[in-house]
Amino acid sequence: MKVPLLDLKQQLKYLREDILEAVTRVIDSTTYIQGPEVSLLEQEISAYCGVENGVGVSSGTDALLVSLMALGIGAGDQVLTTPYSFFATMGVVLRLGATPVFVDIDPVSFNIDPAAMEEVLSRDHERKIKALLPVHLYGQCADMEAIMKLAHQYNLPVIEDAAQAIGAECPMNGDTGGGMNVQWKKAGSIGLAGCFSFFPSKNLGGIGDGGMVVTHDVAFADKIRILLNHGASPKYYHGQVGGNFRLDPIQAAVLRIKMTYLDQWHRARRDNADRYNRMFTETDLVQNKFLVLPQAVYHRKQQLEGSLNGAGENFHIYNQYVLRVSRRDALLDWLRSQDIGCEVYYPVALHQQKCLGTSFPVQSFPQAERAASETIALPIYPELTADMQEYVVDKIAEFYRQ
Ligand SMILES: *Cc1c(COP(=O)(O)O)cnc(C)c1O
Repeated sequence: MKVPLLDLKQQLKYLREDILEAVTRVIDSTTYIQGPEVSLLEQEISAYCGVENGVGVSSGTDALLVSLMALGIGAGDQVLTTPYSFFATMGVVLRLGATPVFVDIDPVSFNIDPAAMEEVLSRDHERKIKALLPVHLYGQCADMEAIMKLAHQYNLPVIEDAAQAIGAECPMNGDTGGGMNVQWKKAGSIGLAGCFSFFPSKNLGGIGDGGMVVTHDVAFADKIRILLNHGASPKYYHGQVGGNFRLDPIQAAVLRIKMTYLDQWHRARRDNADRYNRMFTETDLVQNKFLVLPQAVYHRKQQLEGSLNGAGENFHIYNQYVLRVSRRDALLDWLRSQDIGCEVYYPVALHQQKCLGTSFPVQSFPQAERAASETIALPIYPELTADMQEYVVDKIAEFYRQ
């Protein structure tokens, strides 16, 4: 059996006609820059997230870049972020001449550890840190409740890197025990701004690059609209230097179709994750400590209809289903030799990337470094079948019997 890590051909089977129609509509309209498809997608995504403003941009990377530009981040500034993310999170900080300041991750969620953030913030006497940049890794929110407390305490803006987490939710307002005071908020809707990516492998992916910034702050949204047109306001009058960070209307038209499937896809991924969890638990692999299952750290207590998860609905969107495993690199080779797609997100922690030019001693951020050497992502896409999952689990069990 062949089990790809992601198989977009499966969704194309039922989306193809609609996508062709949407692309044709844009072509026939001759509106090739901005226009109604982009505006409608902005409205639909901001409404989905419970936020007043959405601004379509050219990629998730540019969503982050333009958000930091709108904050005026530049040389001499520092941005507090995680050492365990896709490169873009750190890349945008460096491109603006600013310096990323890292703190370690929580070993259960793989997201930035708020206690470590507090320690660094309390020592930042010169107030060089100008923004907080948490990442909702793999489709699960960072601890935004704690992060927003720090943001208020230190009066710092929060830019959420929600590239992998559109539609993920986390509990806010004091009570994480599932009680009545909990307000569930969507990724990207909590900080000053949330940044999404429509890279084809994200839960909401285009047929090319795309991204969006969502924000409650209309003035911030206006700034971004100006920056994504070379800082022009009005046209041809440049009060500042921006860039071309516009979302393509063809992408917007396609994404509008995919938006209508998004919650259904999230649910299918969640059900696949539950099924993997059950299948792995039925082997002795967890018990014998060959692997650690991914943990959904936020649960809504009441059982929601259609969920396979007996513990109650969780709000991880499983852009990736990531295990910690022993002998990771050998397992990776073995699974690939068995036609099973798998990947490591990410094999090198950000503070250890060569381009940074700074050398951190080994074990500077031990949890991030450990995650880089122990994690593996398995196929989790919505159209994955139970048979395919069984094959994956069997092959992993076979590897550890060898
Ligand atoms: C995908 C991703 C990005 C970048 O998005 P692009 O659309 O590829 O530019 C940024 N941060 C994280 C965490 C991502 O996963």
